Order: sequence, then structure tokens, then C-alpha cells
Amino acid sequence: MITCSLFTNACTQTGKVAEQTKKQTQHSKDAKIEKVVKTAKEWQEILSAEEYRILREQGTERAFTGKYWDNKAEGTYSCSGCQLPLFESDTKFKSGTGWPSFYQPVNEANVATKADNSHGWSRVEVLCGRCDGHLGHVFEDGPKPTGLRYCINGNILTFQAKE
Ligand SMILES: [Zn+2]
Repeated sequence: MITCSLFTNACTQTGKVAEQTKKQTQHSKDAKIEKVVKTAKEWQEILSAEEYRILREQGTERAFTGKYWDNKAEGTYSCSGCQLPLFESDTKFKSGTGWPSFYQPVNEANVATKADNSHGWSRVEVLCGRCDGHLGHVFEDGPKPTGLRYCINGNILTFQAKE
């Protein structure tokens, strides 16, 4: 009789812990962005030559030649490599640089930053938080409230207008 009751108790507790663990796992999965990883060949198959050059080879489009630098429509800009939303039109501002410029990403986790000391400059590279594609650079001369200027290549963005 005693053995039986102990067994029941232990069983109930194990069940509770398992349920809690399951809840926590689901929560952390929601908060974390699952990475998109592809080989160079796989990227070449889905990206245009221009998108590949920028996203996968840290390329830069010439100022005033890319997409969206002058786009004033309301909507969302996503990564052309993996479709992750990156910037909203209400954080886009006129920088005069010839590249789409934003003062804030949609979510901190959606972009990553990395020190870039190429070309004899000390800059901060901006990468897509999901596919690690090169997006552009971030500078500290942007407008309020962040004071940041995300200088992004328009040719690797996909714009979805607000309905
Ligand atoms: Zn991406």
C-alpha cells in the first residue's frame, strides 16, 4: 500500500516537471530566430547575381542606383535572401546618401552586427539575423530616438506595401 502511494506521487511530480519543461522550450523557441544555412551553390540558385554579390560577398550597390532609396510608401522591408522582416517604413528617413536608411530594425534579434575593418575603415557591418546575409552598415549619426543610421543596400530588400 505504501509503495503504491509513493509510486503515484513520484509519477505525478515527474509529469508536472515534464509539462513545465515543455512550456519553457516552446517559449524559448518563439523568441529565438532559427537560422537559415545554405551552401554558396544553393544561394546562387535562389538569388540574382546582384543579390548574391551583396548578401553573400559583402558587396555594395552604387548610391542612388538601387531599389527603395527614394521609396516613401508605407510598409515592411524584408531580407531578399530569407524573407525575414528587417525594417518598417516608419523608421525610414531621408539621409541624402542614396541608400535606404533606417534608424531602427523591426526587432533587435532580426539584425546582427559585426566589426568591419575592411577598406581601411572602422565600420560596423549589419547582417540579417536569420541568414547572416550582408545588409549594409550602421553608423552613429542617425536621427532621434536611436541616433543610429542603418545604411542598407536596397537591392537585397523586398518591400511589402501596407494594405
Ligand atoms: Zn536573411
